[in-house]
Amino acid sequence: MSEAPQTAEPGCPPMPVLFVGHGSPMNAIEDNAWSRGFRDLARLLPRPKAILAISAHWYVAGTFATASERPETIHDFGGFPEELYRIQYPAPGSADLARRAVALVGEERASTRTDWGLDHGTWSVLLHLLPAADVPVVQLSIDGRLTPAEHLAIGRALAPLRDEGVLVLGSGNITHNLGHAFAAWRRDDHAIPDWARSFDEGIAKALAGHDLEHLAHAPGGEAGRLAHPTPDHYLPLLYAAGASGPEDPVRFPITGFDMGSLSMRSAIFG
Ligand code: ZN
Repeated sequence: MSEAPQTAEPGCPPMPVLFVGHGSPMNAIEDNAWSRGFRDLARLLPRPKAILAISAHWYVAGTFATASERPETIHDFGGFPEELYRIQYPAPGSADLARRAVALVGEERASTRTDWGLDHGTWSVLLHLLPAADVPVVQLSIDGRLTPAEHLAIGRALAPLRDEGVLVLGSGNITHNLGHAFAAWRRDDHAIPDWARSFDEGIAKALAGHDLEHLAHAPGGEAGRLAHPTPDHYLPLLYAAGASGPEDPVRFPITGFDMGSLSMRSAIFG
């Protein structure tokens, strides 16, 4: 990033917005349908000047943007093979983009920080999408105290970044009930529960129709409470949907479920 906000050339369409269902950290090192899907996303997106990533795994009391020029690769999980802890994703940061994101969200609500780097919600996807790690990446935290409407509003506030060549990336999962997923995995049960399928399909329909009301209220419904015992993996979707508009076509380049109930659906807006 240069010192000033970058503007796209006249006539250039805005950068699409991406939501990725990241699933297991193992997708970082396994060659499977999901990791191949993450790699294939590169062919569907223009090369961004920078990335602003909203990961389920930076869920805190406040809205913060990472301002370090060399963000650390954070291994924020336990009990996985040693190989996964050795992964580094050495993308540069961008203090300029962090300040720009804070300015867009509003300095009364957001600020920069240097004590967080890139967590696995971001790097487990980006090391497939941009393996050279040569595009600056800034993470934006999710303030767990906000309402769905407020998360959508922050996403909307970030939309001008799309005209500056920045890829807004939400990384979570459209369904995320790990208690259910691990119990099914232990039983070797691959059946997709009705609540997972119906919640995922309802969200897909709402995304395609830019139905922000449904997106805001769905986690509070019966299937929603099963799909998201905690909201952290759902909320990145609201940032991506908020940064998109009704004029953006919506595509689902990756669909399906892992561990029975974990939706791996990804969406490209625009
Ligand atoms: Zn996760």
